[in-house]
Amino acid sequence: MLRWQVGAFTITSVVESEAPTSPRFLFADLDKKAVLGIAERKPWLQPNFVSPEGFLLQKIHALVIDGGGRRIIVDTCIGNDKERHNPGWANLQGPFLDDLAAAGYPAETIDTVICTHLHVDHVGWNTKLVDGRWFPTFPNARYLFVKPEFEHWQVAPDINGDETFADSVAPIHEAGLADLVSTSHEVCPGIHYEPTPGHTPGHVSLVIESEGQRAVITGDMIHTPLQIAAPEHSSMFDTDPDMARHTRKAFLDRWSDDATLIIGTHFGSPTAGTLTADGDGAYTLHC
Ligand SMILES: [Zn+2]
Repeated sequence: MLRWQVGAFTITSVVESEAPTSPRFLFADLDKKAVLGIAERKPWLQPNFVSPEGFLLQKIHALVIDGGGRRIIVDTCIGNDKERHNPGWANLQGPFLDDLAAAGYPAETIDTVICTHLHVDHVGWNTKLVDGRWFPTFPNARYLFVKPEFEHWQVAPDINGDETFADSVAPIHEAGLADLVSTSHEVCPGIHYEPTPGHTPGHVSLVIESEGQRAVITGDMIHTPLQIAAPEHSSMFDTDPDMARHTRKAFLDRWSDDATLIIGTHFGSPTAGTLTADGDGAYTLHC
């Protein structure tokens, strides 16, 4: 299990799935050959983030932030029992909640749920199926939804045509556990949102600061470290690919201080590192 210490905060990765992903799943303009070409120019991508065949090494995980009397879960993966068009994501029966408890965090001990955005792989465990109905998985938590993000997906069609909002977001609102917050919301002392729009309209990244140390959880405006080595490539799931590209470049420029721990929402293990600028518009993630 991956775990990082940022001052007084412990950040733990709880993995739902980890698998090589075809670049075509994410990028219209990149195939495996093109990915291997980028990896040849930027060899740090291998072996952790690009396979010898040119697959992207990705994971879906949640991050638990424990400290300052708080237990916060960030991005709740795909979830079990959900009807999904992607066959790899449909009706999962995984041990995520057991793994979360084994990491030291039974669901009822979580006090805050954060979703960097409301895509299908970031909201799934918000709810669980009980007697045919969706109930909050974290009954003692406040769920923080970014207001413009919530309002967008309340009416916009899901990226895969799934009922993601209806089964994983609306039941939280109906249970009275949702707080609609701004894109620069302060969660608690030391933890705040930063707006990183483009992947989705109200997308945020999460900054964690304590005792002179800092980490940032990316969300999906960087899906894969490949987009650190080649920031110009936006994913097919971006609501606004041009804005996502602009946001990504500004993000990389800002945090390439070789000190801030960048924790990826989908980066394969080891999943986190510090950034430096290469000087050619690209960046390197040092794990
Ligand atoms: Zn995602």
